[in-house]
Amino acid sequence: MQQGAIHKILIANRGEIAIRIVRACKDLHIANVAIYTKPDAECLHVKVADEAYCVGDEPLKGYLDPAKIIETAKQCGADAIHPGYGFLSENYDFAKAVEDAGLILIGPKSDIILKMGNKNIARSLMKENGIPVVPGTEPLNKESMDTIKTLARRIGYPVILKSSGGGGGRGIREVWSEDELEENFESCKREAKAFFNNDEVFMEKLIEKPRHIEFQILGDNYGNIIHLCERDCSIQRRHQKVIEIAPCPTISEDLRKRMGVAAVAAAKAVGYTNAGTIEFLLDDYNNFYFMEMNTRIQVEHGITEEVTGVDLIGRQIRIASGEILDIEQSEVKARGVAIEARITAENAWKDFAPSPGTITGYFPALGPGVRVDTHIYQDYEIPPFYDSMLAKLMVKDSSYDLAVSKLERALDEFKIEGVTTTLPFLHAISKRRHFRKGFFDTSYLEERLEDILENTADEASEVVAAIAAAKLRGE
Ligand code: ADP
Ligand code: ADP
Ligand code: MG
Repeated sequence: MQQGAIHKILIANRGEIAIRIVRACKDLHIANVAIYTKPDAECLHVKVADEAYCVGDEPLKGYLDPAKIIETAKQCGADAIHPGYGFLSENYDFAKAVEDAGLILIGPKSDIILKMGNKNIARSLMKENGIPVVPGTEPLNKESMDTIKTLARRIGYPVILKSSGGGGGRGIREVWSEDELEENFESCKREAKAFFNNDEVFMEKLIEKPRHIEFQILGDNYGNIIHLCERDCSIQRRHQKVIEIAPCPTISEDLRKRMGVAAVAAAKAVGYTNAGTIEFLLDDYNNFYFMEMNTRIQVEHGITEEVTGVDLIGRQIRIASGEILDIEQSEVKARGVAIEARITAENAWKDFAPSPGTITGYFPALGPGVRVDTHIYQDYEIPPFYDSMLAKLMVKDSSYDLAVSKLERALDEFKIEGVTTTLPFLHAISKRRHFRKGFFDTSYLEERLEDILENTADEASEVVAAIAAAKLRGE
């Protein structure tokens, strides 16, 4: 670590990622500062950080308030801000304000966030640089419905409508025939406006039954850019990741190499720095297409850390402080296979409705090759204002087969009492034959949802009984 570059980091986030960043700071002997809003005063990220400052009385607002966050950073003498994921992590105005305040944002430069944070601009940039993109259109907002219909016919149904500023699976509509187009276009625009305050929508060919394969990128401030292998994030529900695997259990070494080269070329094309992810769709014929770039640390970064041995958050900090990336592409090798399951406070049997409440018992899975990144603890009260993710269970073993078995064991061992979680649902997936063989694509989960839910009904009733028992005990 270069001496003197970053002494103190303010973490502009909450939950497990804020704790993960505190740990990385402590490993590097860097002072760290948490922020929190009043209802979050008892949260774990507040307790583990060296210092913590309240940024507002309302639950959500303070985490999304650039001026307040920058003012807090200055007051406490922080010289850098880590945005984590979600919240302000891909917000150009925030990144620019941090730079203008003379602070270091631990991430890429603001102009890269501006370009790559917009799916449509990113697509154009990639096309210009010879990276294959999903066939599609420019923004459609100024076009008539007749023109949009003509464009869709030209691409060929099914098509997919996407919000340029979208993320987290929001602002996406699949359209399978012309009669569904207008209604979906309008609702996509409305959702885009509501979630991202940007109603720009464009259209892509819907790739049927693709795999979602993404490459972890690291780039330093001197033009060195490498990838740290891929993750298969095809196990999704409503375009949101549920289980991720590093590396992909089924692609050939040759394809991995070609996709890796394209991912690094994509990052080099925009002069990318710090950690980022290039997301590709891979079709049945092994054609791959650039889908988007995430200009931040991802939820699922931990499984890449487990197989490559590279501490990604630590590297983000070291790169931001001016250190040269001393890992050559040829040195990067995934050893074994790691799988992550996102455990959420949702009721899978009630259309995944959020289930806030109080955790009355918490018994995480343990043992060799098991890692849990979480912010919950016994008596933690789950607020209704945020993402419903409670914990990330990660397992690692020498092969995909063994890693899946470990996942099954760990999900069985993991107990969270007091609220309904997706643990039984995830456990049921871990036992499915095709999942265990690595035969799946992004439609896998949706297509089997009912069957999986029926098969987990028994486990669900155990959960319901445990909650009822806790209520009876007056907890
Ligand atoms: P990853 O690609 O790392 O898996 P997700 O897409 O699942 O990330 O999103 C991670 C978190 O960031 C979630 O809490 C999600 O709700 C949030 N998020 C992602 N993109 C955006 C965005 N553009 N605006 C607001 N929140 C977002
Ligand atoms: P987000 O920013 O919400 O993560 P993405 O563009 O990464 O949005 O898409 C999320 C998911 O939606 C993908 O992982 C994939 O499953 C599906 N998807 C997106 N674009 C397409 C497409 N053109 N064809 C098929 N599926 C797609
Ligand atoms: Mg994505």
